[in-house]
Amino acid sequence: MILEVRDLSFSYGDHRVLDSLDLKISDGDMVALLGKNGAGKTTLLRLIPSFLKCTQGTISIDSVPVKDLKLKDRAGYMAYIPQITRSAFPYSVRTSILMGASNRLSMFQSPGRKEEQRVEQIIDLLNLHQIADRNMDTISGGERQLVLIARALMQDARLLILDEPTSFLDYSNQLMVLERIGDLVKKGYSCIYSTHNPDLALGHSSRIVIMSEGHISFDGSAVELIGTDILSKVYGRSIEVVRTERGGIVCIPD
Ligand code: ADP
Repeated sequence: MILEVRDLSFSYGDHRVLDSLDLKISDGDMVALLGKNGAGKTTLLRLIPSFLKCTQGTISIDSVPVKDLKLKDRAGYMAYIPQITRSAFPYSVRTSILMGASNRLSMFQSPGRKEEQRVEQIIDLLNLHQIADRNMDTISGGERQLVLIARALMQDARLLILDEPTSFLDYSNQLMVLERIGDLVKKGYSCIYSTHNPDLALGHSSRIVIMSEGHISFDGSAVELIGTDILSKVYGRSIEVVRTERGGIVCIPD
């Protein structure tokens, strides 16, 4: 599956936010989206599933314009996963995941055996066994983020779109969520996520896309950032990108 964004522009009123932007995401890509506040990351992530209508350009999935897909078909290709919130209802994790099937069912249809089996597959896939019977209100923020991802997988979506999936999480939960997403990507899913933490992006992506002033100013691997001043220019302060002795890539502000 290939998502292709071509010549995309978007304005809020007369405020131009994205300007002739191109981006391609294929199966197996884990794309980290970086950029200062206001760079347009959320706007881009909301344009991809057509939550916002672009002013110019096209967004297509396997050459079909996303805006022409019925809601149900779109949900089978991609899922927008919001930031975690407290659950309004005290459902179990298993029931919450099952409710993710509602996109694939007609209005009067209830989830059946097939959907229940799919829930168990997803619990396996994301390794959620230990929390499956717990109440949503009793699990950690990181685990809640995983449940939101699990619900998205109930739609059969292959491309996961996540707006700051690690905000509000402590460091170990940030790592845990990105590692689990990485495991899904290794199994052929693809993902684009925004983050304010370049270190996490360097360690958890196959590609880093940096947005500034409505454009993509960098699209490449973490390795390609080593020794460059690209992050320094984006964030307006000196930041060194280096390889560690153990082979990781990290950034260090001077
Ligand atoms: P980021 O996610 O990179 O912080 P956003 O996409 O949220 O950036 O915002 C990009 C720009 O668009 C900012 O200048 C922001 O103030 C503006 N903006 C975002 N949402 C709206 C909106 N609903 N109406 C008007 N302007 C908006």
